[in-house]
Amino acid sequence: MSAKTTKPPARRQAPPTKPEVADAPREAGTALAPCNICQGVAFKPGPNARMVGDNTPPLCAGCGSFERHRIVRHIFDKIRPHRFATLNALQFGRDRGIAGGWFRSFRRADDDGKSETAAPLSITQIALPDAGMDVVVCSYVLETLPDHRPALREIGRVISDHGFAFIAVQTPHSRATTVEMARPADGRYRTFGRDFEAELAALLPDLHVIRVVGQDPATQVEGWGYFITMDDEFAAYLFERGLRAKFVNIRKIMA
Ligand SMILES: [Zn+2]
Repeated sequence: MSAKTTKPPARRQAPPTKPEVADAPREAGTALAPCNICQGVAFKPGPNARMVGDNTPPLCAGCGSFERHRIVRHIFDKIRPHRFATLNALQFGRDRGIAGGWFRSFRRADDDGKSETAAPLSITQIALPDAGMDVVVCSYVLETLPDHRPALREIGRVISDHGFAFIAVQTPHSRATTVEMARPADGRYRTFGRDFEAELAALLPDLHVIRVVGQDPATQVEGWGYFITMDDEFAAYLFERGLRAKFVNIRKIMA
């Protein structure tokens, strides 16, 4: 019996035992970066134990934000302060991505009317004059309306010549066409698709509509937002901010 037959068959060289630190995967269930709203570093799974991407928890334990809120914050961190301290702002929807202190004044549309100036405002019939507000923020609200088109027309009506509106809807990039739900689920009547952009252009022909791309630093999830403005200077500014801005509509000058 030769030594050869008792030897185990040749094997491929074993992998090095030394860990390759540079390529080591990060620990599962940890965020990639702190929350850009509260700077917290503790994150939890979302409802129904939802995780994002490579097992990253999306819910900030500090401020309760989800990735969609931090995407909005990322977009605004890129563009502020600009002229924000001179602008009066109105917010539809409770979006933690927006901080009222950035603006000259800030009002939530659903304020309960405890203060004299803060009666609730309806997004489909905003009780303000034409061009009566500089900034209107509408985050993740259009999904919750039986018909979102009157709301978009109203937003276009009330923003001032030097102001803007910011619109966010959930994941419009992920499907071609908007899906209307036969029965509203979780208070949502539809899931928007990429055809939302054609709708914005058709409803707001006399305003610039500009898509920007934000990214949540904690999960690296990207999302789209839309700025609506009459102000050529602000439109140009958006293209300088590293947000992959793209015109959805270039305003037509109305006779
Ligand atoms: Zn946070």
